[in-house]
Amino acid sequence: MSLDISTLYFVATMVAAMLGAMLLFFGRQEHIPALNWWGTAYLLGAASVALWTLAAGSLGEVLSLALNAVGFVACGMVWNASRVFHGREPNWPGLVLGAVAWIAAVMTLPPEASAMRMTIGAGIVAVYAALTAGELWSDRRRAQQKRWPAIVVPVLHGFVLMLPILLGDLFHAHDASFAGSIWVTVFSIELVLYAVGTVFVIFMLVSERAVTAHKTAASMDPLTGMFNRRGFAEACARVIDREANAGRPVTVMIFDIDHFKSINDRFGHPAGDEILKLFAAVVVNGLRITDLSGRIGGEEFAALLPCSLEEGVVVAERVREGFEGSGIVDETGPVDTTVSIGVAGGPAGTELEVLLAAADTALYQAKRGGRNRVEAAEELPLSLENWRRKTAGIARQPQQPAVARLA
Ligand code: GH3
Ligand code: MG
Ligand code: MG
Repeated sequence: MSLDISTLYFVATMVAAMLGAMLLFFGRQEHIPALNWWGTAYLLGAASVALWTLAAGSLGEVLSLALNAVGFVACGMVWNASRVFHGREPNWPGLVLGAVAWIAAVMTLPPEASAMRMTIGAGIVAVYAALTAGELWSDRRRAQQKRWPAIVVPVLHGFVLMLPILLGDLFHAHDASFAGSIWVTVFSIELVLYAVGTVFVIFMLVSERAVTAHKTAASMDPLTGMFNRRGFAEACARVIDREANAGRPVTVMIFDIDHFKSINDRFGHPAGDEILKLFAAVVVNGLRITDLSGRIGGEEFAALLPCSLEEGVVVAERVREGFEGSGIVDETGPVDTTVSIGVAGGPAGTELEVLLAAADTALYQAKRGGRNRVEAAEELPLSLENWRRKTAGIARQPQQPAVARLA
């Protein structure tokens, strides 16, 4: 099979240009700035390779140098795309440094030092590729999927983007037979494969980002910015496992704002929402960084602390006092902001549901006892199953005579 090298270059650059246009299109549509960077890098890279190979020989030295420099800027843009993708600022000096270094090297080296020029060019591409891979490597811990394609591909991609220029430099300048060698064919096919491969990796990263954003949204409460019930339960499961392995106790508390319905009735729903946000801030400020908290219902919140019941009661008391003293006033005077709190602690490895059930019982006692108070659970249900049976038994009691009659 004989492959025409000019046709191969043409196909490679067309594929790169089309992928660049596609990345730009999606970048604009989905408002993902990193895709704009990647897309522009592709277009620039494709344009510089196309012009260089098509017009090789007829280009002046200055124009030829400028096209090479554009290729290096494209490499810098690929690196900056991954920075922008991770929410960092683009590095503008870094973007052009490779091109500047290249121009400086070419202008200071004698014309016959083409091998040296190739080495410098490959070195610049390798540095950008390493920076791109490093950027993606530093983010791998947060990644849900395996990251190796995202790291391997840029390393090779950087080389492939520049290889036609570097090889072209070699064969145009010195060795005409190199143009017909199998390597040129292999590299140009690689250029197509990696152009496509990189886009695959880019879309893998973008889709993973979207999935993570949806997962986060599914576990957060938008009003307070806290975990919602689902997020809280998931985070608790991890902390309980960790504390169980270390043999440490955990304490759970449930907060229920007192007479919240009447706050809504008197001041309106939006004012009620503001008080919920205020309470969330009081809870977060009252807890340590290692404690977890969440909004588990309308005006109900919960927290999990890796500490004993006694320590937990002290924290709950601090939150209660903090909310009571939050100093909300309206025209008619101070607004009562009080909360009732149920606390339950258990030995290492106690299930979250067991602790929540006990804290809920304690909360009920706090409400019955007059509100604005902290109650600690005296005992844990032996197991959730027993607790369910017991509470179900209480709920069924009025029906017992009917059952007895049937018997
Ligand atoms: P108690 O002291 O017994 O807890 O009385 P309460 O009024 O706080 O309890 P109740 O369960 O009767 O009422 C809870 C109220 O919380 C009713 C509901 O309108 C309000 N609520 C639930 N979610 C929201 C919310 O997102 N925003 C606002 N503003 N109010 C909410
Ligand atoms: Mg309630
Ligand atoms: Mg309430």
